[in-house]
Amino acid sequence: MTDLIKQTARQLSDLLRAGDVSAHEVAVAHLDRIAAVDERVHAFLHVDREYTLARADQVDAKRASGAAMGVLAGVPLALKDVLAMKGQPTTCGSRMLEHWRPPYNATVVERLHAADVVILGKTNMDEFAMGSSTEFSAYGPTHNPWDLDRIPGGSGGGSAASLAAFEAPLAIGTDTGGSIRQPAAVTGTVGVKPTYGAVSRYGLVALASSLDQAGPCARTVEDTALLHMAIAGYDPKDSTSINQPVADMVAAAQRRDLRGMRIGLVKELSGQGFQAGVRQRFEEAVALYTSLGADVVEVSCPSFDYALAAYYLILPSEASSNLAKFDGMRYGLRSGDDGEHSVEQVMGLTRAAGFGPEVIRRIMIGTYALSSGYYDAYYGSAQKVRTLIQRDFNAAFTTCDVLISPTAPTTAFKIGEKLDDPLAMYLNDIATIPVNLAGNCGMSLPIGLAPEDGLPVGLQIIAPINGDDRLYQAGGALEAALHAQWGHHILEEAPAL
Ligand code: GLN
Repeated sequence: MTDLIKQTARQLSDLLRAGDVSAHEVAVAHLDRIAAVDERVHAFLHVDREYTLARADQVDAKRASGAAMGVLAGVPLALKDVLAMKGQPTTCGSRMLEHWRPPYNATVVERLHAADVVILGKTNMDEFAMGSSTEFSAYGPTHNPWDLDRIPGGSGGGSAASLAAFEAPLAIGTDTGGSIRQPAAVTGTVGVKPTYGAVSRYGLVALASSLDQAGPCARTVEDTALLHMAIAGYDPKDSTSINQPVADMVAAAQRRDLRGMRIGLVKELSGQGFQAGVRQRFEEAVALYTSLGADVVEVSCPSFDYALAAYYLILPSEASSNLAKFDGMRYGLRSGDDGEHSVEQVMGLTRAAGFGPEVIRRIMIGTYALSSGYYDAYYGSAQKVRTLIQRDFNAAFTTCDVLISPTAPTTAFKIGEKLDDPLAMYLNDIATIPVNLAGNCGMSLPIGLAPEDGLPVGLQIIAPINGDDRLYQAGGALEAALHAQWGHHILEEAPAL
């Protein structure tokens, strides 16, 4: 029988529709793979075999009854542990929510259920999605399947690693500053941060509400498009949800035509501080784009130089207020509730015990930045920078259809290497953060291995607000050209687990 774990979601969909395999068999193949390798990878925080097989059986029964099935029916998926799933653990990588079971489903989960996708489990992440390496998870790091001593990116390292380790063909991530795209880049997988408001935030545990966006992750551009279509669309439960029809991402991914497309190479996002091998692969991808008929020009977005600084004021400010609800009174952990302590003391003890060092650092920065007397100087200035970044994007998109850059400045670094240096960690997201600040959309896809370390390099494609289909057109065409060159998927080059 075909090696089910090596199939794309599209291939699994075809096999399932033809009746060549059952959703049950597909789920078993992936659960067995998880059982075999996840002790070493640690992509998952929680896998419920019984639950998953019961879901798969329901999907098989529905198909047997002759009901109309969606294209992803019976295809397994790994869900980032920041999305609420009824009755299942939803820890956000934090001790604070260790024993919490949400009483409701996130809209993304509802949509996945409606599409008959089979959820395999919840994936590891940096605590409350703060980080770029998944090392800030309270439950231990995830290991990069390319080299188990290296990080898989973050915060959604578990989702990306599950794809690269062939534990799941599809995964959901969330991206507030790069947490879908940077993990995709360093694991040789594909990830998309949709336009802000394109995918509902209802049931997504908030980090920074004006930046957060859930999105699709997979091993191919087409699979990513299929998942994008399953989760995108208007939701009255999210006040910033976009009420517009969703463009056909799958058709865009299949178009394979770049003639006349104007691609802007962002000067500020590809120069200093980028690893030589990352730059080399990027330059080759640029040349490939030109040979495919695209018109590549250099554009300048001068305000991007201030994006990181603005982000690390806006994000902690919003996070400090969003995370105030974890006070030991309503959700999850409660410490010091022994009759000896006052309410204030219980809150303090709970927060000290429940939050890790990075979360505490950001709550303190955010609280300071929002405090009276400093608000205008810090938060206010950061918001002005945000406007300038939006203007830079708007100007660039008057002459370009999409923009490109390397996704991350380096390939996957060693576990522990940047743990004690917050600034070094923050710099991983230098190229992804402007997109979140402006609310538009971005994709990362693999463009080869860096010659110096043999690790995957990602290219970022950026499109305007509601131009998500352009990501798939530009990404699908590049991926097809690269696959034709290589003769195989890049993950075929990863060492066997
Ligand atoms: N790495 C970035 C941060 O630490 C992005 C996080 C995210 O996108 N959730 O904030």
